[in-house]
Amino acid sequence: MSEFVAAIDQGTTSSRMMIFDHGGAAVARGQLEFEQILPQAGWVEHDPVAIWDSVRDAIGACLSGDISAEQLAAVGVTNQRETTVVWNPTTGEPYHNAIVWQDTRNDRLVSRHKNEGHEEIVKAKAGLPVATYFAGGKIEWLFEHVDGLREAAHNGEAVFGTTDTWVLWNLTGGTDGGIHVTDVTNASRSMLMDLTTLDWDDELLELFGIPREMLPEIKASSEPDFYGVTRADGPFGRELPLCGILGDQQAATVGQVCYDKGEGKNTYGTGNFMLLNTGTTPVPSENGLLTTLGYKFGDDDPVYCLEGSIAVTGSSIQWLRDQLGIIDDAAESEALANEVDDTGGMVFVPAFSGLFAPYWDSAARGVMVGMSRFNTKAHVARAALEAVCYQSKDVAIAMQQDSGVELDVMKVDGGMTSNDTLMQMQADIAGVPVSKPVVAETTALGAAYAAGLATGFWSGTDELRDNWLEDKRWEPQWSDDQREAGYDRWKRAIERTRDWVDVEDA
Ligand code: ADP
Repeated sequence: MSEFVAAIDQGTTSSRMMIFDHGGAAVARGQLEFEQILPQAGWVEHDPVAIWDSVRDAIGACLSGDISAEQLAAVGVTNQRETTVVWNPTTGEPYHNAIVWQDTRNDRLVSRHKNEGHEEIVKAKAGLPVATYFAGGKIEWLFEHVDGLREAAHNGEAVFGTTDTWVLWNLTGGTDGGIHVTDVTNASRSMLMDLTTLDWDDELLELFGIPREMLPEIKASSEPDFYGVTRADGPFGRELPLCGILGDQQAATVGQVCYDKGEGKNTYGTGNFMLLNTGTTPVPSENGLLTTLGYKFGDDDPVYCLEGSIAVTGSSIQWLRDQLGIIDDAAESEALANEVDDTGGMVFVPAFSGLFAPYWDSAARGVMVGMSRFNTKAHVARAALEAVCYQSKDVAIAMQQDSGVELDVMKVDGGMTSNDTLMQMQADIAGVPVSKPVVAETTALGAAYAAGLATGFWSGTDELRDNWLEDKRWEPQWSDDQREAGYDRWKRAIERTRDWVDVEDA
């Protein structure tokens, strides 16, 4: 009897598997971290073999308890997006470590594309600014730096995948018949897919010099015909349908049941990612957001989102811990911030890697302004938390301007949402209620939903909506004057971050 659905979440710092029941409750989990390889400033790599090992071991750990693979109906996969793996399909050997989404090594190639005037076509077709963030530019860098790779790609001896593709290839047999697929959400983060045809685009492939032969087949996010089945001699020990794939932020959007136009969510992790469902036609952004695929379930029309990606939110709390040493762990930021009632006039903008949405200014750098002798580390902690909320407010405003949709509630998830003070600040600063669901692991849940919809484990999105239960809600308490004065200070602080470094020298 198939009572459960499994989701593999191949994240940036760890891989996990979770098993969910029909009500959307998590009933088992297994998680393994893997090494972050930092060869030089701005470079971030993962060993693809270590990624696969961590996935395999997470599956084993998850199935070591009361629930066995015999009780599973389907398996979904969600993943860190954009992170680029290129491997030899005959030997299974990667040509290079995976280049991770935060990695900025291809900044010169990006500048070259901008100088050659490629921005307009990439934005028009792929919905994205030309930036180091996306997978296509990472493949281009590998071609320029790994001997013979370009030729190998043309000869079918080198294939590309984001980590969803790499995990599915390994789960379905690897060198012995592994499948080579991805879904529309992951493909939409490459600068190589046309948002409307949902296929790799010849003109974009030509711009980046990438042969179509090396790219995976693009499928729906939920596939009633299955992408493939797990190998009986693999970590599940039996054949199981693999039938859901979603990039992590899109998975969280699905897990938060944002199925109607105008519904969105904000995830608070290392960075923040706010996605707004804009319906079945892509909405181009005039305000610094990305146009991206939200999900595509089977033969239904694709659903698009606007996305505001913020580079530094949770990682600024790590910075307070590791670089400033004013807290011992992330959760302590709350008690420290609560030693004071406000920031004592200071504003902190943690533009450590420049500013992402809605500014996209890679020359910006962090500032603390408005300080006097009066300020203490408690004010710094409070200002760091406020910065998370103000950055989210900037993105929410851009979304409203692009979509015309007024946010009436902000649905939240992710590690930082356990900080009550932060969530109250977010309601005060954004001026909308903030709402958190009972199941906080919305990313894995979304991947499970995609897989379970494909097999009929769940009958449709109405049933999934019924699974969403609110755990907690924070109502705005600030006056309008207080909100406006605070936002005005924030915007003035943002101005002081701009154009700080020469990107060519950075
Ligand atoms: P990711 O999925 O990006 O690895 P998580 O969702 O696990 O991230 O969230 C972890 C991030 O949240 C870390 O950057 C950490 O600094 C921050 N964080 C976790 N708990 C708290 C807390 N109670 N207060 C403030 N920040 C927190």
